[in-house]
Amino acid sequence: MMSCDIFALANTGVQGLQPYQAGKPTEELERELGLTDIVKLASNENPLGVSELVQATVSNEIAGLTRYPDANGYYLKQALAKKYGVTAEQITLGNGSNDVLELIARSFIAAEHEVIYAEHAFVVYPLVTQAIGATGVAVPAKDWGHDLPAMLAAVTDKTRVIFIANPNNPTGTFLTAEALYEFISQVPKSVIVVLDEAYFEYVADEDKAPSVNWLTEFSNLIITRTFSKAYGLAGLRVGYSISSTDIADILNRVRQPFNCNSVALAAAEAALQDHDFLTASVALNNSQKGVLEAFFDAENIRYIPSQGNFITIELVQDPLAVYQALLHKGVIVRPVMGYGLTQHLRVSIGNENENRTFMTALVDVLAGLRQTEQ
Ligand SMILES: *Cc1c(COP(=O)(O)O)cnc(C)c1O
Repeated sequence: MMSCDIFALANTGVQGLQPYQAGKPTEELERELGLTDIVKLASNENPLGVSELVQATVSNEIAGLTRYPDANGYYLKQALAKKYGVTAEQITLGNGSNDVLELIARSFIAAEHEVIYAEHAFVVYPLVTQAIGATGVAVPAKDWGHDLPAMLAAVTDKTRVIFIANPNNPTGTFLTAEALYEFISQVPKSVIVVLDEAYFEYVADEDKAPSVNWLTEFSNLIITRTFSKAYGLAGLRVGYSISSTDIADILNRVRQPFNCNSVALAAAEAALQDHDFLTASVALNNSQKGVLEAFFDAENIRYIPSQGNFITIELVQDPLAVYQALLHKGVIVRPVMGYGLTQHLRVSIGNENENRTFMTALVDVLAGLRQTEQ
């Protein structure tokens, strides 16, 4: 019997995709190496854990799990609308903001379109573009970050969406409010600008772009944010966009009605109320970022200055060898070769203990590699 080539049946764009490389789960490493006390600094998760208010809320939701969630996410949208001074009709909820990014792609991009993003930008932009069979235009980075004038110059009649991550992952690079505003002002209104602010809460207050205020001026602007990072809810999958009501209306047509589960909706709403947890998360990140930066400086390890909850370091050694050796010491960081960052590793900023373990392990690993070279 002839076997059918299933791969050939997949959409052309899908055939070209590589499966997403997630950070290695701790359980897997524990199984493989028989290690315990593993430190995972690979997926930019919040080292403070889950706020107590959220934990109590999650427990309360369990009894209601027999019911479908609120398809409209009424209460969470109300809370977000109040927080940002927008209407609930401007908000689109997603199963993580990744879900929203995909909704945007499926709503606005077709095979004949071009999609602009920066070299070394978040992997989901090329992924959602390619899955549709559209043409991705990766504009060369400037100082590891977005080159906005070059991105503007890349706009053609076929451009439908521009993705911008601010701060960017995996580089941590940051665009000023002035530069962003100027850029968005010059993009044709027929091109959707997606401003991905997954790390917004970590940005220094004086540097935060007033992007939500810009929505009144730019009907083509979509801001995406998430509960996965500073709010500590990566496992629950909740993100959202804020946009014009026209855009939200379109996204909500494509959206699966129950894309946000009931526990996630309630937990996110509670997380918004827990100001102390958010403040503590940001404060911990800031202080530990300083500790790591001082360490890198002292060890002559280059790094890209970051406004996120992670730092990308540039090594003279083979980054995969360093990654593997760190794994054997029970520390998981993130290789970023797939982002065209061939000499780099991305390290999420952990708590004090985690960072200390990482720093000790890195010093050992680099010393060990130096010895084998000699
Ligand atoms: C982590 C991250 C997201 C958020 O992903 P979720 O799906 O909300 O967990 C979005 N954009 C960037 C650039 C990120 O790094």
